[in-house]
Amino acid sequence: MKTRVVVLGAGFGGLELSTMLSEALGDRLDLTLIDKSETFFFGYSKLDVMFGRQPPEAVCVPYRHIVKPGVRFRQEAITAIDPGARRVTTDHGTYDADVLVVALGADYDLAATPGLVEGGHEFYSFAGATRLRDVLPTFSKGRAIVGVTSAPFKCPPAPSEAALLLHDHLTARGVRGACEISLVMPFGVPIPPSPDTSRALLAAFAERGITFVPKRLVLALDPARRVAILDDQSEMPCDLFLGIPKHRVPDVVAASGMTGNGWIPVNPKTLATRFPAVYAVGDVTSVGTPKAGVFAEGAARVAARSIIADLQAGDRPSAYAGAGSCYVEFGANRVGRVDIDFFSGPSPTGSLFGPSVAMAADKQHFGSSRRARWFGV
Ligand SMILES: Cc1cc2nc3c(=O)[nH]c(=O)nc-3n(C[C@H](O)[C@H](O)[C@H](O)COP(=O)(O)OP(=O)(O)OC[C@H]3O[C@@H](n4cnc5c(N)ncnc54)[C@H](O)[C@@H]3O)c2cc1C
Repeated sequence: MKTRVVVLGAGFGGLELSTMLSEALGDRLDLTLIDKSETFFFGYSKLDVMFGRQPPEAVCVPYRHIVKPGVRFRQEAITAIDPGARRVTTDHGTYDADVLVVALGADYDLAATPGLVEGGHEFYSFAGATRLRDVLPTFSKGRAIVGVTSAPFKCPPAPSEAALLLHDHLTARGVRGACEISLVMPFGVPIPPSPDTSRALLAAFAERGITFVPKRLVLALDPARRVAILDDQSEMPCDLFLGIPKHRVPDVVAASGMTGNGWIPVNPKTLATRFPAVYAVGDVTSVGTPKAGVFAEGAARVAARSIIADLQAGDRPSAYAGAGSCYVEFGANRVGRVDIDFFSGPSPTGSLFGPSVAMAADKQHFGSSRRARWFGV
């Protein structure tokens, strides 16, 4: 009898885990990978789309390309998860699993920030980034704010990247002098675990006249008065708001009874949930690393090794290290890489490499290597 593995969500976590199980078990595997979307895209592609560097269709990889021994992809919306019974319901049917993996990522709650839908924009969803592609060319003067509305949020460097790329965009159009750019973030520095990266980003903001507003969140927008209201009740004039919306687990996860503190608690060493033979990886968890693709991928590798060890009665894998490399766009075609380690020392550490043009090629390679590994394209 083949082991039935059901993987919910085909993002960084679900794709890496399915790939590893297929490589290790091949046709001895009966894995169903379920995602409601037709295509995959990298989180950072949203920056490429919003600034018109790539058309939306160019950054999407269709899931139909997945051809892996033992793996079957189903494009279906998951409507219920029973972790005790390891039973999953979708808009097409029901799946029973011997091993269940939840990798459903984080959703957004735009309504949690009053005025955001009516008077602002967000670039964290694909639809939001695609809309901004048409909006940004119409912004030629006034005050722009890139603002975080709630924590935790995906990819902590992304707001800094958006501010720097907005500077490039306005400069290329010859309107930078008529515009102000501010960045509102809940941290004291842009990337707290990496003083090197924070220093480099603060220097880049200063060189470009970008105002960094630390230790603040944007709680609301008042479109009638064209102001953003911060969490200390101060107000900032705002003609263009590029927001990072409040994150939350998908509704189906909230309804499953798996969450503890708003996210799915897991054993940080093994990614096991409190339900037998049910794992959770990536942004949907509260494992203690940032919500980023590289960390979802690293967690997926550990969960995959645990599942393989269980099935083959092999050695247990070493614990999840909470380490990963994140690329940071500095603008002017230069990219930095920050190597972050969350779990090996008493506190997180991070070292910066670059920024440089060469590192931009490294980032390209990061993307193309995943496309090849997960999709064979
Ligand atoms: C602007 C931006 C820039 C970023 N840049 C980077 C970067 O440079 N490096 C990096 O590592 N990370 C980056 N990220 C973060 C990265 O995209 C995420 O952290 C990563 O995708 C998380 O992986 P995951 O597998 O946990 O979830 P996801 O990749 O979000 O996958 C979850 C999947 O679940 C599916 N799903 C959800 N609900 C359902 C349902 N009910 N039924 C069926 N399917 C469902 C979704 O369609 C999705 O495909 C960035 C994010 C943003 C927004």
